[in-house]
Amino acid sequence: MSNDAVASRSTADPTSVDEPPSLSPCNGAPAPAAGQSWFPKGSALVKATDWNDWRWQMRHRIRSVDRLAEMFPELGISEGLRAAAARFPLAITPYYASLIDQCSTMDPVFSMSVPNGREIWNPPFLRDDPLEEDRDMPVPGLIHRYPDRALVIATTACAMYCRHCTRKRVTSSRESRISETRLRRSVAYLRSNPGIKDVIISGGDPLTLPTDALEEIVKAIRSVPSVEIIRIGTRTPVTLPMRITDELVAMLQKYHPLWVNTHFNHPVELTADAARACGRLVDAGIPTGNQAVLLKGVNDDIEVMERLLRGLIRIRVRPYYLFQCDLVPGVEHFRTPLSKGIEIMEALRGRMSGLGIPDFVLDVPHGGGKVPLLPQYVVSASPTHTVLRNFEGMLVSYPEPYAEDMGTSPLRPFAGPARVCDLLSGQSSVIRPHSTERHNRRRLSAPQQRTRPERGRQVGMITGDITSTRDRNA
Ligand SMILES: *Cc1c(COP(=O)(O)O)cnc(C)c1O
Ligand code: SF4
Repeated sequence: MSNDAVASRSTADPTSVDEPPSLSPCNGAPAPAAGQSWFPKGSALVKATDWNDWRWQMRHRIRSVDRLAEMFPELGISEGLRAAAARFPLAITPYYASLIDQCSTMDPVFSMSVPNGREIWNPPFLRDDPLEEDRDMPVPGLIHRYPDRALVIATTACAMYCRHCTRKRVTSSRESRISETRLRRSVAYLRSNPGIKDVIISGGDPLTLPTDALEEIVKAIRSVPSVEIIRIGTRTPVTLPMRITDELVAMLQKYHPLWVNTHFNHPVELTADAARACGRLVDAGIPTGNQAVLLKGVNDDIEVMERLLRGLIRIRVRPYYLFQCDLVPGVEHFRTPLSKGIEIMEALRGRMSGLGIPDFVLDVPHGGGKVPLLPQYVVSASPTHTVLRNFEGMLVSYPEPYAEDMGTSPLRPFAGPARVCDLLSGQSSVIRPHSTERHNRRRLSAPQQRTRPERGRQVGMITGDITSTRDRNA
């Protein structure tokens, strides 16, 4: 990939790297002395074959504050950082650590992976399980919230523990996978509830399991005839892209229809390795979606969000959800007001391809499930017309299907500029903003086609008839 969505910081390309990948943790940091660590700048200590081996990456994760201090010598280890690391699990793959550019919360990868003292400060309304998942578990580890879907927690382990994780009560330093008994009970539950058509294998991160262990789970779920689709939720394409091996994909392919949702939050995560991992999934016929989390200081910015979303569709990953942070401890410093998400959705619609626009959702407290939030597009409504606004601020009247009894507008024709109520009564069909990029383009491209001045509509071309006022030039 040569586009700018694929960050130049990508380290390991198995097709072209002979040299061991070098890593420069934190720009400007003096390189640690040779032998001091296993991936110092320019070091020859890591072989490319190791670096590209997901098991090597898993074994060499940064799992302690001491290791963190060793890897990032100029990182001040505060008491707060120690406390945060003691409270919530810490793990960073060497690959993901290699994407850190500066040891500062200005750096998105740093923010998402390195413990922060602010995780310890938590207002009283935060709960370990705000979505009451534990109360929707008919079988331990199986969450049945919606009529047709269930979520199975396959493991408590993740390659990298996101500091913003919503399921911190599940992910833990005691990394354990679903037991055979639990799996059997989960499958029995799915069999006795044939209304469940869609099973999400989640965690933790199921792709931290060895392929054969994962296959046992997928196969068991696939053996239930009423299950139509299987989804896997995994962040490995982002934090451990070398996990997406040909062997893994060949296994998954046997259990179609199978979907994957991953979790990119920032364009710097869209490396060549990540693009290759997603490409492998998609090439195997596995539709891949993205579930981002809106995080203060990471992606709560329209420019960053747009680069992320455009980058995702370029690597054939469909932005599915943009999540509002849940009310769990440890993430308060990442939480944005709901208005931020709505503002971002407003900016995206019209500005970029609909394929790249996710749904902004809030998983509501008390287990109510996901609720989409979006700006208001319906401005007003009457029995005969609905008034909508577009991203430019144009107001358009949409006539309802004609019915004898829909009544007529009590409003009398009005000679002045069209008002919203004139759109509601069908006396006018559009109110245009004075000047938009699109209108200016129209004016320049086809002036001869214009039958009336651009602002003609605004000064109210009023007739009383519903159909004749539909603006066929619009
Ligand atoms: C999010 C979620 C699902 C899936 O919801 P979709 O909106 O279909 O993606 C299913 N079960 C639980 C418990 C969930 O949190
Ligand atoms: S990968 Fe998912 S489950 Fe694991 S820590 Fe990140 S958000 Fe939590």
